[in-house]
Amino acid sequence: MSADRAKRKVLVIGWDAADWKVIMPLIDAGKMPNLARLIEQGICGNIATLQPVLSPMLWTSIATGKRAFKHGILGFSEPDPLTGGIRPVTSLSRKTKAIWNILNQSGLSTNVVGWWPSNPVEELSKGVMVSNDYQRAVGRDPKKWPVKAGTIHPARLQKTLAELRFHPTELTEADLCAFLPGLEGMNREDLDKAEKDPRMQMLLKIIADCTSIHSAATWLMQNERWNFMAVYYDAIDHFGHAFMRYHPPKQDYVDDWDFRVFKYCLEGGYLYHDMMLGTLLRLAGVETTVILMSDHGFHPDHLRPSGIPREPAGPAIEHRQFGIFVAGGPGIKKDERIYGANLLDICPTLLHLFGLPIGEDMDGKVLLDIHEHKPADIQRIPSWDEVEGDHGMHPPDKQISPADSKAALQQLVALGYIAEPNADKARALEETVRELDYQLAQAYMDGGIHNQAVDILERLYNTWPMEHRFGFKLAACYQSLGRTANLRRLVTTLIERRIEEANAAAAALKSLKLDDPEVQKAEKERMESLSPRQGPTSSRSATSKRAPISQRNDTRTPLPSSNSSTATTGRAATLSSCAVKSASVSNAGRNRKSRLRRHWRLIRKARVRSWA
Ligand SMILES: [Zn+2]
Repeated sequence: MSADRAKRKVLVIGWDAADWKVIMPLIDAGKMPNLARLIEQGICGNIATLQPVLSPMLWTSIATGKRAFKHGILGFSEPDPLTGGIRPVTSLSRKTKAIWNILNQSGLSTNVVGWWPSNPVEELSKGVMVSNDYQRAVGRDPKKWPVKAGTIHPARLQKTLAELRFHPTELTEADLCAFLPGLEGMNREDLDKAEKDPRMQMLLKIIADCTSIHSAATWLMQNERWNFMAVYYDAIDHFGHAFMRYHPPKQDYVDDWDFRVFKYCLEGGYLYHDMMLGTLLRLAGVETTVILMSDHGFHPDHLRPSGIPREPAGPAIEHRQFGIFVAGGPGIKKDERIYGANLLDICPTLLHLFGLPIGEDMDGKVLLDIHEHKPADIQRIPSWDEVEGDHGMHPPDKQISPADSKAALQQLVALGYIAEPNADKARALEETVRELDYQLAQAYMDGGIHNQAVDILERLYNTWPMEHRFGFKLAACYQSLGRTANLRRLVTTLIERRIEEANAAAAALKSLKLDDPEVQKAEKERMESLSPRQGPTSSRSATSKRAPISQRNDTRTPLPSSNSSTATTGRAATLSSCAVKSASVSNAGRNRKSRLRRHWRLIRKARVRSWA
C-alpha cells in the first residue's frame, strides 16, 4: 500500500434530508457558523437524488455507487426467512460491496456509525461498525437498556459504546428549551397540554437518538485508528416529517397552538446539527478530507404537500429531489460551487481519493471537479465484487433473530414509514413483496431501463387491478418506450377502473344516509356515550397512541365544509372495517378518525365520476 494512501483520512457525514432551502437563511442569519466555515473553505452544491426517494435505498447507493437493482436494498422492510413474516430492512439484503468492505480489503481502517441499513454489523477486521439500531431506546429506564445483539463490532467496544448511549428520559427541560422556546411564558394549562402531546415524545426520541450516534462517533474518532470515518444522522429527516409543517411561514391548515409550540423545532434541529458538525470538524483536524451530504432535500416552503398519500412510503412525498453536498480539506477547491453531482458519485469519488480503482459496474462517476489541481488519473477494474480479500461482508447464511426484527419493525410503524403489519402474516408478506417489486420497478425506470420495469409493473397491475399507481407508472414506461398501442389500451382501462371505483364509492356513501337527521342524531349520541371527554368535533386525540406522523393526515387533510358536519356525525358504524371494538376513550378517538378517513376516501373516489 502506498504511504500516501495509508496517511489519507476521509470523513463522510450524512445528514438525511438536509436541504439548502432551510440552511441558507440560517447561515445568512449567522446561526450555522460551522457549516458556513466548511462551505467557505470548501466546494458545495446540490446533489441529485434517485427514484424512488427512500432513504435505505439511497444511503446504500451512496455507499456502493450502484442503483438499487444492483445493490438489493429495495425498501424499509423485507421478508424474514426465519419467521415467514416481515422485518425491517437489514444489511443482509445488500448483495454488493460497500465502500467500507473495499477499504477494509485494501488495508485501510474504517469506522462506520449509524449507516442505514447496517444492522446487523459487518465484522470488519480493520474497523468498527455501529449499526442503525444501536441508538434505539427501549423501555423507560436507561439502566434497563440492554445492548441489542448485532449492533456493535468489535465486541471489545460493547461496554464502552453502550454507556455512551443517551435515553430520551435523560433529557431535561433545559435541553428541550432549545427546541421549544415557545414553551416559555406559557400558562400551566398549556404546559400540561404540551407535556401530554405525543409530538413531545417524538421530539425527545429524535434528539436522544442523534445524540447517541454523535457520542459514539466522536468517541471513535478520538480513540480508534481510522482512515475512513462515516457517520449517518437520521434526525433532520425525522424533524422534517414531524415538524416541517409548523416551520414558518405558518400555513393556513396549521393550528395556532401547534404553530406557537412547534414552530422552532425544525430550526432547532438544524442548529443542533451545526453544533455537532463543529465537534466533528475539530476532531477530524485540517488534514482530513470532509464530505457532508444529504440523500435528498425536504420541501420547506410553499411546496410543502398539504396531505400525505395513504399508500406505503407515502411520507416520501415531502422529500425534494436535491440534497446538499459539501467537500473540504487538503487539495479541495475553496469557496467554489459544484454542479451535476449525484448520490451515485460518492463511492467512486471516495475510492479515487484513496488512490483505488473504481468498479466498471458502478453507476456513478468520480467528482473530479472538487480538486484544486489536476487529480490523478482514474483507474478502473471490472468489479470489486470479483476481487477476493478480507472484506468483512456477511456470509450468505447469516440470520438475525425474529424478536429483534419485531421491535425494530414497530419503530418504523411509529415513524409512519410503513403501515402497521397486517395481522394476517401471509397478506403482510405479500404486500411487502409487492412494494419491494414496485420500488424495484421505479429504480429501473430511474436508471432508464424501462423494459425491465414494464415486466414488473404489468405483473403488479394484473395482480392488483385497483392499485392505480401501478397503472400510472406502467403508462409512463409505455410512453418512454414509444409503445403507443399499449399506452392507449392502458389509459382506457385506467379510466374504466376509476369510474367503476367511483360508482361503488358513491353507492357506499349513499347507503350511509349521512344527511338524514335521524342518523346524525343517533351517531352523535353513540359517540358521546363512548367518549365523555372528547366531543365528536375535536380534531385531535391527545390520548392516541399513534405517533404524530400519523396525525398529520387528520390535521392536514381538511374535509370540505359542506360535508364535514355530516361526516363527523354520520352513522359510520355500518362500515364493518372501522366498527368500534372497545369503548375505551383512545379507541373511540381512533375509530372516529378512521371513519373520517374512510368517508373522505369515499368522497374523493366518488368525485372521479365527473370524468365520465
Ligand atoms: Zn424522509
